[in-house]
Amino acid sequence: MTKFHKYHGAGNDFIIVDNRDKSFDIKDADNIKLLCHRRFGVGADGIILLENQPDYDFQMVFINNDGSMGSMCGNGGRCIVHFAHYILKIIKDPKNINFIAVDGAHKAEILKNGEIKLKMQDISKVGERNNLPFVLCGTTPHNIMFVENLKEFPVVEKGRKIPWSEKKTVEEDLKAKTEENVYIFSKLTAEQQKNLSFENQIKDITSQVGTLDKLSKTDKELLQKYSKVYFLNENYVPESLAPVPNEFIYEKDKQIQIHTKVLSNLTDLLRSAQNNSMDLKIISGFRSFGEQSVLKGAYTVSFGSDANKFSADQGYSEHQLGTTVDFTTASVGATFSGFSKTKEYEWLLQNAYKYGFIISYPEGNAYYQFEPWHFRFVGKQLAERLYVEKQNFYDLDQRKIDAYLINIFD
Ligand SMILES: [Zn+2]
Repeated sequence: MTKFHKYHGAGNDFIIVDNRDKSFDIKDADNIKLLCHRRFGVGADGIILLENQPDYDFQMVFINNDGSMGSMCGNGGRCIVHFAHYILKIIKDPKNINFIAVDGAHKAEILKNGEIKLKMQDISKVGERNNLPFVLCGTTPHNIMFVENLKEFPVVEKGRKIPWSEKKTVEEDLKAKTEENVYIFSKLTAEQQKNLSFENQIKDITSQVGTLDKLSKTDKELLQKYSKVYFLNENYVPESLAPVPNEFIYEKDKQIQIHTKVLSNLTDLLRSAQNNSMDLKIISGFRSFGEQSVLKGAYTVSFGSDANKFSADQGYSEHQLGTTVDFTTASVGATFSGFSKTKEYEWLLQNAYKYGFIISYPEGNAYYQFEPWHFRFVGKQLAERLYVEKQNFYDLDQRKIDAYLINIFD
């Protein structure tokens, strides 16, 4: 368990962790992203670690909310000084605080009214980037834009149009990408400027509005793990269904439907299979609760109480989602048996992830019987991760899976 404090400095918010025992894993980018996620985690612009450093009061380590190492952040700097003094009580002389950050040594001071004064590094470079004046403060690049009326200036919209970096060398580009913030200020409203911190806020608002909007429109069931005890409500129906083109259907006169947003991924997969001389056909797609019950009923009659072990039950909810299909090939047909020995199955194992599909119940899984024909759409990013890490969807923590929901149809 990680003990943390939540801080904000002029609107930038941070998770601050006392890491003097070095127990926080700064390389676990997934964990960092999750902690900083505003819906699934604590929510923050970044994580700040306080660590020991000989000859200084402490060391500040700033990690961006995407897991990359951050540059020096003035708002975060004041927060960590507050944390060191008021929470950890490790500051020897509140009038003369010395700490070190990625850009070098900093001095800070606790003022009489309890506020914190922080000395930043001098501006190290002045120039032009993105056709705008540019200054490098410590390690953080800022673009400057002069505007007439700050109050009415569409900061988010204009800020969004300024590239994060200019393509120079790959090295410069990478550095700039992780560090560049866009800073806009008005020469006419110098007074207001003092109170408005646009740094990061622009980035944050931009991404948050998009993220919230997208998340609110994304069906949370699409990446849910189902089991014998947790399954879809009988009233659940996918937001929209589309017919699978007839050329890919095993039984020519059968109508098979799939989630509309998954259709192009499925047809791309099937075309690619075709181009590689694979004879892949779809034998089942979306199945309503009613259809499922009939199927399960049939199995129950034939196999009694052991029916749960059979396929009608295990793929149940996933077929009701509309994002899942059962494949077959001519040599196997409707029997399914032997599908795992076909070259089509091998091809699916190596290629389905490129189109966002994964095998739900692979060989040797701990949940259900092996179903080599049953593939579920989970989005390209998650499917690729599972493929690269050789992991099963059902073995992954639901919280980690949820982080991929936002990009499921990208
Ligand atoms: Zn199935």
